[in-house]
Amino acid sequence: MSITDLTDEQQAICEMVRQFADEQIIPNAEHYDHEDEFPEPIVAQMRELGLFGVTIPEEYGGMGLDLATYAMIVEELSRGWISISGVVNTHFIGSYLLMKFGTEEQKLRYLPSMATGEVRAAFSLSEPELGSDVAAIKTAAKKTSEGDYEINGTKMWVTNGLRSGLVFVLVRTDPEAEPRHRGLTCFIAEKEPGVAENTGPYKGFNVPPQIKKMGYKGVESTELVFDGYRVPAENILGGEDEGLNRGFSQMMDALELGRVNVAARGVGLAQRALELALRYSQERRAFGKPIAQHQAIQFKLADMATQVEAARLLTRRAARMKDAGVRSDIEAGMAKLFASEAARMCAEESLRIHGGYGYSKEYEIERLYRDAPLLLIGEGTSEIQRMVIGRKLLERHKI
Ligand SMILES: Cc1cc2nc3c(=O)[nH]c(=O)nc-3n(C[C@H](O)[C@H](O)[C@H](O)COP(=O)(O)OP(=O)(O)OC[C@H]3O[C@@H](n4cnc5c(N)ncnc54)[C@H](O)[C@@H]3O)c2cc1C
Repeated sequence: MSITDLTDEQQAICEMVRQFADEQIIPNAEHYDHEDEFPEPIVAQMRELGLFGVTIPEEYGGMGLDLATYAMIVEELSRGWISISGVVNTHFIGSYLLMKFGTEEQKLRYLPSMATGEVRAAFSLSEPELGSDVAAIKTAAKKTSEGDYEINGTKMWVTNGLRSGLVFVLVRTDPEAEPRHRGLTCFIAEKEPGVAENTGPYKGFNVPPQIKKMGYKGVESTELVFDGYRVPAENILGGEDEGLNRGFSQMMDALELGRVNVAARGVGLAQRALELALRYSQERRAFGKPIAQHQAIQFKLADMATQVEAARLLTRRAARMKDAGVRSDIEAGMAKLFASEAARMCAEESLRIHGGYGYSKEYEIERLYRDAPLLLIGEGTSEIQRMVIGRKLLERHKI
């Protein structure tokens, strides 16, 4: 890894997280993946390391680091196992939404307990009938005569849906709005972490059993069923006056950041696939020499290493642009598109290099091969990234 462009602080943090991944994540990932079990002891250690508050300002108890540093941390965690980064990633998006759009009262109320990881956050846009087409959201919130809002509808694919205590949920508040995206609002929905059927103040917020997946195990993905769930108007992100019907643009802003986040996961996974291929190809012999000495294998290694490096550079550039407050929709889209495709390619090439053993559950590459496709889907598919990049390019270069 090139570390020449990192600050001393970034270098120290990366080394610390890399060591954590080598000692705690990689040796245990196989067990949790195989059992599809939440990696509680690893998450407890992440809390101790302060990893839930990386980007939260120090005044609210966090580390106050920038997106570029966060992306480096995500890369290192994902090199260990992307499910581990999945536990912090939605939390990070929630804290960004609060920091950028929350009222001071909302920040004071939630950020300190989020910084320690005591309360964890999820975010929820997707529904059973929609994912890419966010503006089509059907789950609706209606104002009651008592001044609060009642939410009804079903959400889908919520990462950390069960164990989170807060869900940043995008719902329809104006069914007549044209264009449709102007009728959406982001609510900060509170619930009891780990409880499937909430009661008392959170009644009507239910979490069905987790969805069974091909990879990305350990961290739960769930539906959320809102059935007459009541939420106070003060839980509209940014307050009722500023936040009502503004949820779409708030979420799209956060997704820009989310795309850098997924890109960083792609870099980490691709890096690990390359490391495994480099090791195995020097150990395994065929036709009288290590397979790494066959040019066809060397070409695979060369292509993988080039993809990893390019993906890393794109990701860091997009992160730095966002940190600088520069518009980075194209760059975040490019980083996400390139790095997720690089992860898929590197996982497959590394699997091929492992031959039959790559297909065995005893080799780590088998898990990476199942985990990689998620990155092509979450925070916008590759098709959606191309749509965003193409549209924004034409906007920026209009003749
Ligand atoms: C494990 C996992 C975790 C997730 N976590 C979360 C989460 O925490 N919160 C959340 O809100 N969502 C989450 N998602 C949902 C994810 O964001 C969506 O799956 C994703 O946005 C794609 O939406 P979709 O599945 O409905 O596919 P669709 O939108 O139905 O798309 C299906 C196919 O059509 C293509 N397509 C769609 N529109 C176009 C178009 N205009 N032009 C060309 N092609 C198009 C897509 O690229 C795709 O190939 C998660 C998904 C998974 C699998």
